[in-house]
Amino acid sequence: MILENVVSNALLHPAALWDVELQEDGYVQGTRPSEASPDTPPPQLLLPPLCHPHVHLDKAYVFTCNNQASPRYPDYSDLCPASGSFDEALTNTSLAKERYTPEDLYLRGSQLLATSYAQGVTSMRAFVELDHIAGALPLTTAIRLKKDFAHLLELQICAFAQDPIFSTTHGDANRTVMEEALVEYAGSIEALGTTPYVETSRGASLSNMRWAITAALRHHLHLDFHLDYTLGPPSSLPSPRPLTYSVIELLEEHSWVQVADSSKTIALGHCTQLSMLGDAEWKVLAEVILTSKLPIHFIGLPMSDIYMMGRPAANCQSTHSRPRGTLHVPSLIKELGLSACLGINNVGNAFTPFGTGDPLQMASWAVGLYQAGTVSDAELLYECVSNRARQAIGLDRFIQCGTIREGQRLYGMLLLRNQRAVELPGAYGQSSMTVSSRQRLSLKDVVWDPPDISLRSVLK
Ligand SMILES: [Zn+2]
Repeated sequence: MILENVVSNALLHPAALWDVELQEDGYVQGTRPSEASPDTPPPQLLLPPLCHPHVHLDKAYVFTCNNQASPRYPDYSDLCPASGSFDEALTNTSLAKERYTPEDLYLRGSQLLATSYAQGVTSMRAFVELDHIAGALPLTTAIRLKKDFAHLLELQICAFAQDPIFSTTHGDANRTVMEEALVEYAGSIEALGTTPYVETSRGASLSNMRWAITAALRHHLHLDFHLDYTLGPPSSLPSPRPLTYSVIELLEEHSWVQVADSSKTIALGHCTQLSMLGDAEWKVLAEVILTSKLPIHFIGLPMSDIYMMGRPAANCQSTHSRPRGTLHVPSLIKELGLSACLGINNVGNAFTPFGTGDPLQMASWAVGLYQAGTVSDAELLYECVSNRARQAIGLDRFIQCGTIREGQRLYGMLLLRNQRAVELPGAYGQSSMTVSSRQRLSLKDVVWDPPDISLRSVLK
């Protein structure tokens, strides 16, 4: 595999295999065409590493950790979905938060980070909830995890208000917890996130966004909104004009482009309601965003959107009619010229009980979900879970497959191996039989049929 700092038989360009010689510090010393010999390993792919632009750290694996087997950890098994509704998810997550302990948060968090790294993730924006129930515990645990995993992952902490901060009886208390944490843990928080749509009135949603924009500017943070998480038609009550329009207006009102550090981005997650807009409305919206020069990145969160949205109403005559709505990320990029990427959002909790959290698996499902089946679509979807995701959270792009040259640093890139063959029990008196493995030779192969975790490693 990697012997004496040589990555043998690596596929740098679809048409050719190369050996890449690395210096001890990971810089490319030289490349030479691979020579086919019986000892040559199967082809390997060197790709930009994966990135979670939006993943919830403190509530990961609440329903799949099965920590009730140990008296050291809280039991969440009674909170598993009954109706699966969004309100139930919010309520049960609040109940789960009452049971959080430092050991439990650290264990589940480290399980998410370990799994992500094994899947090929080297950077992430991790959301940690701050409110009157959990206080700052999810944040202080995230700070420990960030330090303990710093040699493997770039963990960007997003201080996040999942609950209302301008309405309900706990709004003021929740906002106070956020405000105090932004000051006390200033050096450890990189992004500020809120959920304007959970407020009980439009006025409170607008206050939520105004407060978040002001606080992000004051503390020099990236800004991240969970927005317009509904499939209600945008033009009719009770689902009026999407809040995305208001965010843009408020950002301009606060002169974000002039005042904010140019490295800070604005991420808009979910925005399912925007999938109801017509082409002409999208065109106008895209034009407004592009003209504004605001560093807005849309984060499609299809795993949660498809699970949570479009459920039949209580009095609905047909439980079979379930509108599916999620941002059509490839169209946002290709047709509207917007910045967009894909995030996993949740894993093993009330908002998304299923899945492994693997961004590459999500990119693969996205082929069907977005009806994006061309080779260039596959390449774009890989970008959506790697370089485009990195850009959305304010990180640099990684070297592209096919552009590796002498003097570049390759440490941190994702190495995908191929298997030579699979051994099976034999027939006709033979002890075994051997079947040559299909080889993944391009991004199309990787996205359409993601390699097993055991074939992935981060170059270091
Ligand atoms: Zn989220």
